[in-house]
Amino acid sequence: MPIRLLEPNVVSQIAAGEVVARPASVVKELVENALDAGARQIQVTARGGGVTQIQVSDDGGGIPAAEAALAFTRHATSKITRTDDLLSVTTLGFRGEALPSIAAVSDVELTTLAHGAAAGTRIDFQEGAPRAQAAARAPGTTVNVSHLFRQVPARLKFLKSTATENSRVSAVVSAYALAYPEVRFLLRIEDRVSLRTGGGELRDAATDVFGAQTAGELIAVNGESPGIRVSGLISTPQISRANRAQIFLYVNQRWITSVALSRAVTQAFHGLMHEGRYPVAVLNVSIDPAEVDVNIHPTKTEVKFRDEGAVFSAVQRAVRQTLVEEMPVHRVGETSTSYTAATATLSFNPAAARVPDSPPPRLPLGPLGPLEAPNLTPLGVTPRAALPALRVVGQVLLTYVVAEGPDGLYIIDQHAAHERILFEQISAARADRGVEVQGLLEPVTLELSPAEDARLTEHQDSMAAFGFNLELFGERSYLVRAVPAVLRGKDWAEALRATLDQVTAGDQADWLEHVTATLACHGAVRAGKALNGEEMRELVRALELTALPHTCPHGRPAMIVLAEEKLARDFQRS
Ligand code: ADP
Ligand code: MG
Repeated sequence: MPIRLLEPNVVSQIAAGEVVARPASVVKELVENALDAGARQIQVTARGGGVTQIQVSDDGGGIPAAEAALAFTRHATSKITRTDDLLSVTTLGFRGEALPSIAAVSDVELTTLAHGAAAGTRIDFQEGAPRAQAAARAPGTTVNVSHLFRQVPARLKFLKSTATENSRVSAVVSAYALAYPEVRFLLRIEDRVSLRTGGGELRDAATDVFGAQTAGELIAVNGESPGIRVSGLISTPQISRANRAQIFLYVNQRWITSVALSRAVTQAFHGLMHEGRYPVAVLNVSIDPAEVDVNIHPTKTEVKFRDEGAVFSAVQRAVRQTLVEEMPVHRVGETSTSYTAATATLSFNPAAARVPDSPPPRLPLGPLGPLEAPNLTPLGVTPRAALPALRVVGQVLLTYVVAEGPDGLYIIDQHAAHERILFEQISAARADRGVEVQGLLEPVTLELSPAEDARLTEHQDSMAAFGFNLELFGERSYLVRAVPAVLRGKDWAEALRATLDQVTAGDQADWLEHVTATLACHGAVRAGKALNGEEMRELVRALELTALPHTCPHGRPAMIVLAEEKLARDFQRS
């Protein structure tokens, strides 16, 4: 093919692709524009995962009528004029790309009234060209985006489910609501209020985003290094999440993604939090704008520091120092073993969450209660996998059950073994008569983050099939009336969040297995718990009935065997 210049519409589609990857990118750009315009109040609406409609409305400075159409021209911006300005950018936008990019891939309409101006303006598009007309509006700007990616339908195929896209939209709005707590945000998703902040301090916004239960556990960070200030909130190690989704990082109030800084945060928790668990954090790095290059990525979510090492250690030091100073004394220095027990503490009003003490008469899924002979056929038991009948000898280190078998000594990890038992029992019950549920004495309210809420909405039926009876009660508040019986007396709220954390756009069957494993893990007896003889025998008997007794559902060994020959060899008997 000969070399040719691309048609202008192709050029703009290509350029738009860099800025607008998904609905949440549109929301991010429009919210940033509203913040740059000095808005005190920002309303965001998303429908159909943001594909059908996104609307962002603000009470900021507005755009003078004469300039409104120009705002849709590529590289038209009111925020910088010279290259030198790039060294001291204090606004969130500066590339003059967002509005033209959005207009290239959607149907967009902007209505604005500049402060002090007599009349407002509406811009819409006629065959690709902006058209201005007079319109009434209170001071501020509303941008309405509909039919996203209509012009580039191939892009739609790259989007995830509506719920996932919605959850990304709420992550963006949550991120900026936390960065600008003085601004009032209202987010409506599919006509339901998903987030509302009242305009106050960071802790107020954190309460609105994470819920009062989590926000109450957050501690303030205030670290000062030469030229770098690190401030915000972090969770105590008692609160943890299965992924990094609730680590919000900012540089000069710009929301960024940074693998390095996120690692600085998690490393500061080293030894205080389980491997594979992550804290909740909202941290802003204040630094001279000349020390950071925000112009390395079209979406401006990645930045480059002149001295990344200095920023990394400033963040790590600030977080570590806060943890050491603020944490209740007895927690400091606790080893990871006793930490396991700490995760079981309830993060909400324990009195209200108490479940009946007296166990119901039948307890097929109960944690080490008298187990009814389970009517479950051990599926696919191969003679090699099956356990022989074992005689329990005792418990060692409050973690392992020692038993004797025909071929030697069995050392069984009590937690891993119980996980395996519960995993198979829950799987069988789901396929058969349904998972047994435990009603709560009084319903408990549970507040979810917007992202958790979006996932729950999508998966509420599956969660009900697992025994979580949840009733929508207010904005992102649920009344919990029943939980899976396997979580009786356990931190079921933590287990519920853990299952929501795991929802990915992946395969439904995978997810059901993950949820089963999570429930089994949370329901299983912990290491460090003393077991009496009856409980140990019960555990071993139930393990004998499982199809795969040798590993826990995550693949960790549930037991090791010291064969008689090995003992004989080691004692030089033969
Ligand atoms: P940038 O933000 O990089 O300047 P945009 O394409 O996002 O580029 O916006 C172009 C210009 O339109 C901005 O520089 C600003 O002057 C104006 N503008 C966009 N959105 C708003 C808004 N919500 N309120 C006031 N002005 C706005
Ligand atoms: Mg912008």
